Amino acid sequence: MLMISLDRLDELFAAVAAKQTLYLPADREDGQAEYRRWEDGVKLSSRLNTVRSAKDFFFPQTEDLVEFKMEGKNIEVIDPRKESEDFVVFGVRACDARSFTILDKVYLVEPVDSYYKTRRDHGTVVTMACTRPEETCFCRTFGIDPTAPEGDCACWSDGESLFFRANTEKGEKFVDSISSLLDEGDTEKLEKINERTRDVLSKMPLANLSAENFGGDKLNEYFNSDKWGELSEACLGCGTCTFVCPTCQCYDIRDFDTGHGIKRFRCWDSCMYSDFTKMAHGNPRLTQLERFRQRFMHKLVYFPANNNGEFGCVGCGRCLSKCPISMNIVKVMKALEVK
Ligand code: SF4
Ligand code: SF4
Repeated sequence: MLMISLDRLDELFAAVAAKQTLYLPADREDGQAEYRRWEDGVKLSSRLNTVRSAKDFFFPQTEDLVEFKMEGKNIEVIDPRKESEDFVVFGVRACDARSFTILDKVYLVEPVDSYYKTRRDHGTVVTMACTRPEETCFCRTFGIDPTAPEGDCACWSDGESLFFRANTEKGEKFVDSISSLLDEGDTEKLEKINERTRDVLSKMPLANLSAENFGGDKLNEYFNSDKWGELSEACLGCGTCTFVCPTCQCYDIRDFDTGHGIKRFRCWDSCMYSDFTKMAHGNPRLTQLERFRQRFMHKLVYFPANNNGEFGCVGCGRCLSKCPISMNIVKVMKALEVK
């Protein structure tokens, strides 16, 4: 398999960045990681997950949709999109890579969201296999193998070298573009590392969490469960869980008067907010219990009902570590489960 020595990573990143914009996870001063544009001096983080997921590259937190300029009775409609340049997102974990498949099922079906599609078309996803899973990880509950991540090109590290395998045409182009830096390498050590990672995963606290009792056919049992009151009682409605989640996909559209015209933009929204989906007649979900139930029913029942059994969670564990009241999808699954 083609590989590069880890001490030549800067050379690799410089070669990629010379042709396309390169983003990768880098450490922040507070010890957490976030995606940053690569430039000389930016180092690849060794942390497992970024605070915000890689979905930002295809579905950014805010995005201008259209601008209107008015002169007398004339209205000029302007498309503000500039995303025509190719870019690479490097170091995406298997959970985040699967989240793109979920977002594709929302944004690439008719009517196709052309803003999302443009970014998907121009972005190359380079994934990184996990070797040190954390206690909050449960991607395998949803059939994801963190030692064999999806994405256009997958990478594995054996502690000395980084190995590459192209999964798609875009991935092949990526590997071709850096081939002058790569050599053939022996994967024997790599296979042992993957085996050890799978063994560690089978001993992790959430190793036995199963989703098999959830899905589209469980609507009535779960919707009418008497557990929602207790589960949602302390929820602050802060929306943190939705903002860190790689699969949450809801947005709001607003108009802003710039003084020179109108900007129409969209921004992430949260089903946990009291004004979410508020319409002329009012809000369809008046209590936090209903809003809380909506988030988990969507991921565990409604989404699989409409997408051939695919769940709307990838087990990244972000909501487990970020919710200020320590509520999360695992607690909901354990409390609700109907055998
Ligand atoms: S579940 Fe937690 S993170 Fe989500 S809205 Fe409620 S308090 Fe905030
Ligand atoms: S619900 Fe939680 S664990 Fe599942 S994908 Fe979203 S943030 Fe990750």
